[in-house]
Amino acid sequence: MLLQGKKALIFGVANDRSIAYGVAKAFKDQGARLAFGYPGDAIRKRVEPISEELGGEFTFQCDVTSDEDIAASAKTVSEKWGGVDILVHSVAYARQDDLKGRFMDVTREGFALALDVSAYSLVALCKGFDGLLADGASVMTMSYLGAEKVVPSYNVMGVAKAALECSVRYLAADLGPRGIRVNSLSAGPLKTLAASGITGFKGFLPIVEERAPLKRNITQEDVAGTAVYLASGLSSGVTGEVIHVDSGFSIMGI
Ligand code: NAD
Repeated sequence: MLLQGKKALIFGVANDRSIAYGVAKAFKDQGARLAFGYPGDAIRKRVEPISEELGGEFTFQCDVTSDEDIAASAKTVSEKWGGVDILVHSVAYARQDDLKGRFMDVTREGFALALDVSAYSLVALCKGFDGLLADGASVMTMSYLGAEKVVPSYNVMGVAKAALECSVRYLAADLGPRGIRVNSLSAGPLKTLAASGITGFKGFLPIVEERAPLKRNITQEDVAGTAVYLASGLSSGVTGEVIHVDSGFSIMGI
């Protein structure tokens, strides 16, 4: 098994459609040990049964916008595990009003919120768990094409994903000397809770099917397989990258 005994922290499971759910399941199948963060009580009720289903060892509250929560989580993880081999950041949020219409109508507050939850949070987690990340650990996050190209309605989230992808490169440079790798997966559209907040999201799916080289949309398992690769020694020389898991959609011009 590729991840036998590796300790994996998973941030971003909301339900069994979450990208992070598929990732956690695949990690489990490869022998990893799991623990799950949740932002508050509403999600805790959903995460606990999932943790039980996947044999998670513990769950902990961690609203990624709270430095206090991150510090408390690091303490919990330190007490339970003493270290971390894999950290999965699969978290994003923007106001629904900012995921439709014109990008330029985003408010200062909406912009700051989207960037805080969806991009700065990765930096904050790397900093908060710095002392716990084992030498050779793997950190990964989830991005989307909207970071690189204009995608209607994706708006401020595209800007947040661009910041996230750039943060991945700087984090990879900071943590690389310890052998810690940081990468992002740029996933094609998948029907999840977060995706349902994007106006017109359903219309993305047939476009991918029609234009992507593989002529199909991606699955949770497609992302999970790449996540296993990034978490394992198979990707030992890969860091600071954006790996597209999108049926090849992003390579197409006309
Ligand atoms: P999801 O709704 O299942 O997951 C989003 C997660 O973010 C939820 O678990 C939610 O609890 C968590 N979250 C939000 N605010 C938080 C906070 N303050 N603190 C801690 N957690 C918080 O949807 P998903 O599609 O699985 O999204 C996971 C990641 O994948 C996101 O970064 C998303 O942008 C990215 N992504 C999604 C798609 C897609 O089409 N679904 C495509 C590419 C990238």
